[in-house]
Amino acid sequence: MKNQKKETQAVHSGTQFDENSMGTNTPIYASTSVGYLDAPHIVYPRYFNTINQQSVVEKIAALENGEDGLVFSSGMAAISSTLFSLVQKNGHVVFQKGLYGGTFSMVTNHLDQFGISYTIVENNHPKSFKKAITPETRVIYIETPSNPLLQVTDIEAIAQLAKKENILTIIDNTFASPINQNPIDFGIDIVLHSATKYLSGHSDICAGAVVSTKEIISTIRPMALHLGGSLNAQMCSLLERSLKTLSVRVNQQNKNAGFIADILNNHPKIEHVYYPGLATHNGHDIAKKQMLGFGGMLSFELVDNDSYAFQKKLKLIRPSVSLGGVETTICAPALTSHRHLNEEQLEKEGISKGLLRLSVGIENWEDLVDDIEQAFK
Ligand SMILES: *Cc1c(COP(=O)(O)O)cnc(C)c1O
Repeated sequence: MKNQKKETQAVHSGTQFDENSMGTNTPIYASTSVGYLDAPHIVYPRYFNTINQQSVVEKIAALENGEDGLVFSSGMAAISSTLFSLVQKNGHVVFQKGLYGGTFSMVTNHLDQFGISYTIVENNHPKSFKKAITPETRVIYIETPSNPLLQVTDIEAIAQLAKKENILTIIDNTFASPINQNPIDFGIDIVLHSATKYLSGHSDICAGAVVSTKEIISTIRPMALHLGGSLNAQMCSLLERSLKTLSVRVNQQNKNAGFIADILNNHPKIEHVYYPGLATHNGHDIAKKQMLGFGGMLSFELVDNDSYAFQKKLKLIRPSVSLGGVETTICAPALTSHRHLNEEQLEKEGISKGLLRLSVGIENWEDLVDDIEQAFK
């Protein structure tokens, strides 16, 4: 149904009433062996065409204002399957600066192997993207807000630039979630998600998704089914359930992160806070234009630079990797996602030893602030 609001789509889109049991939820269809005689096409999980896969895809596509999609067994499966199906040998890709670590290492370790060249721009100003385009450029790939410094790229400017040159645009929309940002509305062609994060939201599912037009999805599907990163029925069902509460979770996370960012921004033991919702953030004006909420992710630098000692003193906030769960978690990029970088590379990426990335959950924000305060004592 057209024109429904996000809260309604999250609950209802794609979910199938169960005629057999009169149940409210899409049943779990676990069979990998499906009858084929007189059927219009062969159904098989790795073909991305089972009922449970289609139900969850319909929900994510509705939330992203897209026509169709595919659901994968990880965010990286979605990213790799999408890139490798849209760029051929001798093609070129322009990537933004500040990519998710897994994407960065896939790009720098494996694109060569397939005869694909690439440029990672020096900074995320649209002019830098324009300069990086060559006659072979097939795709521009962005990720905003970025990990871990929450840098903001101008989605509309990049989409317009690419359209003029007949180049496809891909965005990794994981950090914002479809509740806070709908890049297709700004002219982006393809939206990717690590569904492991906000879409699943309970730190217990590893999954990924791509959303686009029917036409583009039909060009991704053949490569995706050969790479084989499909999601099984049980996980699709769990993901579908999680998505029903996406808007309530993310709205609470937006609110909590906003309060916490304000308090940390004025804290004597904290050097700098990175949060797109702060008026002092370098991408605030663009964020206001393209985001409906500023998200649950923020980063900050400790004055004393000792992120290990600080994390050890926390009682409620859990030092752990990954993000987007209902529980608040914290990690030091220099000790986790960026641990393989040397001092010089860390400096170039703007990642100090005292940098901490907070994934704000749905708890009461005052309890979270109390925990941070007691860790400073
Ligand atoms: C986690 C993450 C990914 C990779 O997703 P997996 O589900 O771990 O494969 C990609 N992009 C961003 C922004 C992420 O946070």
